[in-house]
Amino acid sequence: MATIGIDIDDVLSETILSFLDFYNKKHNTNFSFNQITDYSLSKALNIPDKDEMLNIFDFFNSDHAKNMNTTPYSKDIVHKLSKDNLLYAISSRPTQLIELTNIWLNKHYEGCFKEIILTNSSIDKSSTKSSVCISKGIDYFIEDQVIFAKDCAEVCSKVILLDKPWNRLKMNNSNIIRVKDWSCVISELIESYN
Ligand SMILES: [Mg+2]
Repeated sequence: MATIGIDIDDVLSETILSFLDFYNKKHNTNFSFNQITDYSLSKALNIPDKDEMLNIFDFFNSDHAKNMNTTPYSKDIVHKLSKDNLLYAISSRPTQLIELTNIWLNKHYEGCFKEIILTNSSIDKSSTKSSVCISKGIDYFIEDQVIFAKDCAEVCSKVILLDKPWNRLKMNNSNIIRVKDWSCVISELIESYN
């Protein structure tokens, strides 16, 4: 049995796709998924920093966020992993989003997670995912953002990075393994156990 930390946005939920649909309708723009080559939305959308969180909160309060899809294969694989492993959902989302986060996760991944933890790191940069990994004894972490992957790789045996347009940077960290999607996650974990 392993203890596994799993990020939420763009790891469990198709957040960017859903956000772009919301944003494009609201602002009459036409941004596509592959244009998001920087996870800083203010940079990717060319908007002032102060507008980034406003748009994110608007999105999370919308039906778009309530109706986000799960990422390909994640639902089956997370349910499977939850039978033999201890899973924690760990996100940098602001803590005030905990209620709607719980509702969405319980709708798609009911009973899979021992705990759902929001670190608030998107607002408070001093709050880290690695400190949660230490306190919960996380062995493996599944992530999509480079900054959090590097942070967690300091304290976890392995970080599995799901390939996304915003994380295609060269990284010289043998603890971070890039995979194309969730279908490759179990084989990476099995390789680590042995
Ligand atoms: Mg994420």
